[in-house]
Amino acid sequence: MKFADLHLHTHFSDGTFSPEELAGHAQRLGFAALALTDHDSVEGCARMAEVCGAAAIEFITGTELTAEHNDTELHLLGYFVDTRNEKFLMDIARFQAVRQDRIREMVARLNALNVPLQVETVFALANCKSPGRPHVARALVQAGLCKSLDEAFERFLKKNRPAWVPKAKMSALEGVELIHQAGGLAVMAHPGLNRTDDVIPVLVDAGMDGIECFHTKHSPATSARYLEIADKYHLLVTGGSDCHGFSKGKPLIGTVKLPYEHVEKMKAKVAERNVKTTDGHG
Ligand code: AMP
Ligand code: FE
Ligand code: FE
Ligand code: ZN
Repeated sequence: MKFADLHLHTHFSDGTFSPEELAGHAQRLGFAALALTDHDSVEGCARMAEVCGAAAIEFITGTELTAEHNDTELHLLGYFVDTRNEKFLMDIARFQAVRQDRIREMVARLNALNVPLQVETVFALANCKSPGRPHVARALVQAGLCKSLDEAFERFLKKNRPAWVPKAKMSALEGVELIHQAGGLAVMAHPGLNRTDDVIPVLVDAGMDGIECFHTKHSPATSARYLEIADKYHLLVTGGSDCHGFSKGKPLIGTVKLPYEHVEKMKAKVAERNVKTTDGHG
């Protein structure tokens, strides 16, 4: 049986694996298809496509956007997005700039607390367009200013801790639109983690295509619940491990194996939409 992992991060956001390492693990585990879903970024997709090609693994472009609806944070996965779509690239560049400014602000707050971390150190360590709190945490540990990533979050970086800075987010409706205009499928990530059930019907009305029913942190009961919701709203079913390499403990790739039939349904929906937009009836 063929299976896929449609939720993966590399060092192009807050994961620790390179595309080569990720594809290596996927090949060893027997995955037929992968999607890369780095936060607010498609920077790693070109290299991931190349290494998957060499490993005979099907590659699906993707991203994970941080969005909000009525003050509830939610994550939107975009699959099959055209990574060269100019409007899409310009829009996500805005959110990458927000992330970079937020890092500067977090470091300024640390400095005000007499924690002598330099912002250049964080940017050098992150080495990507989409830095986040895990990079600040790693920099604190590497500089010997915290003993562990957990300590960095607990003391400084968790919500309402002294170096935490709120992040300006796009609206969920804007996120769905952004993914669609780049030719992608919009999928709500890990609904069981964000407690975003109330938002599902709102986003269904906005044309959301699917929900991530299978996720490392969904219990079997949670997955079953979202499979029912997917059925009720005629949504695509997706799933993935949300592997971040070693940045949150041990690598998670392999914990979720999405049956390939779901990938086929996704491809059918993208193909159908592309026919509609090119023959002028859509
Ligand atoms: P950001 O997008 O910059 O707000 O960072 C979010 C990332 O930080 C996510 O990948 C989270 O899993 C990770 N994160 C949040 N809280 C913690 C924590 N207490 N310990 C470790 N990682 C965390
Ligand atoms: Fe992350
Ligand atoms: Fe997420
Ligand atoms: Zn993720």
